Amino acid sequence: MVYDILILGSGPAGLAAAIAARGRDKSVLVIGNPWQDSPLAKAERVDNYPGLPGRTGLELLEELFRHAEALGTEFVTGRALSLLAWNGFSLTVGSQVYQGRALILAPGVVRQNKYPGESELLGRGVSYCATCDGMLYRNRPVTVVGLSPDAPQEANYLSGLGCQVVYVSPHQPWGLKEGIPYIKAGRLAVKGEQTVAGLEADGALLPCDGVFILRRAVAPTDLLPDLETEEGVVRVDRRMATNLPGVFAAGDCTGEPLQVSKAVGEGHVAALSACEYLDADP
Ligand SMILES: Cc1cc2nc3c(=O)[nH]c(=O)nc-3n(C[C@H](O)[C@H](O)[C@H](O)COP(=O)(O)OP(=O)(O)OC[C@H]3O[C@@H](n4cnc5c(N)ncnc54)[C@H](O)[C@@H]3O)c2cc1C
Repeated sequence: MVYDILILGSGPAGLAAAIAARGRDKSVLVIGNPWQDSPLAKAERVDNYPGLPGRTGLELLEELFRHAEALGTEFVTGRALSLLAWNGFSLTVGSQVYQGRALILAPGVVRQNKYPGESELLGRGVSYCATCDGMLYRNRPVTVVGLSPDAPQEANYLSGLGCQVVYVSPHQPWGLKEGIPYIKAGRLAVKGEQTVAGLEADGALLPCDGVFILRRAVAPTDLLPDLETEEGVVRVDRRMATNLPGVFAAGDCTGEPLQVSKAVGEGHVAALSACEYLDADP
């Protein structure tokens, strides 16, 4: 199925966008980590959301989620790993691909300090997606940098393909297959000239052909390299349109103030603009 609108991110901005788009009768798929993953879930008391003072962040999120769900929004829980902008938009989650005619980016603030060598060797041995690129490294040594909860499963998948996997993470992994070596390390650097030669972990070099860096979220600019940003945030106009046709953005990813009411308002506007975009080209 090709959805009218794909929404990346299941926080207040993404959920508000879904509510507005369903109000215009568009088919909507929200792709995101579990909605409880939004940073808002950590707020013990939200006093600045107009009309609803004193709720916990979790309560507000749940009400937004239930509202979007009741209006017929569809949800896929998982990490979007790659995005193809051709003939609409195709977002990959695990081994599944989801298609839409317009896209709303609402991933929140993706905080990620890249490792030295990571950007330079992206696509030349560095990958963010085991499912997409694993086959390229069959029977070859790879390192998995596990920063997301599902990283051990991804490492197991690579091992099942025949990759010789070493798992590196600052945190003890849960669910890693027996036989996959685990190295606890936090200071990392990707090494290599034209292609990856290894991963340096706390000063020790682990020779390998591929480094899979598995974070909780992928920055929008890693998904859409042509997306324009300004001082680290997605550049949008008053319609929440980005520089790319059919791509809109809302919430913390567009900059300050990092607040729920702003995220919700922007999500609403982004959805209406996406509907206009679709209606102009039925
Ligand atoms: C402790 C704390 C307290 C706060 N208190 C308040 C308050 O009292 N009042 C207030 O107004 N604001 C508060 N905030 C700020 C508020 O939480 C944010 O402004 C708001 O959550 C932004 O909404 P958003 O939808 O833009 O992004 P987010 O809420 O960050 O949601 C984005 C979601 O998308 C997911 N995602 C990102 N990339 C991907 C990907 N590639 N694949 C799948 N999923 C992805 C993320 O995991 C996340 O779940 C607080 C924040 C914190 C941390």
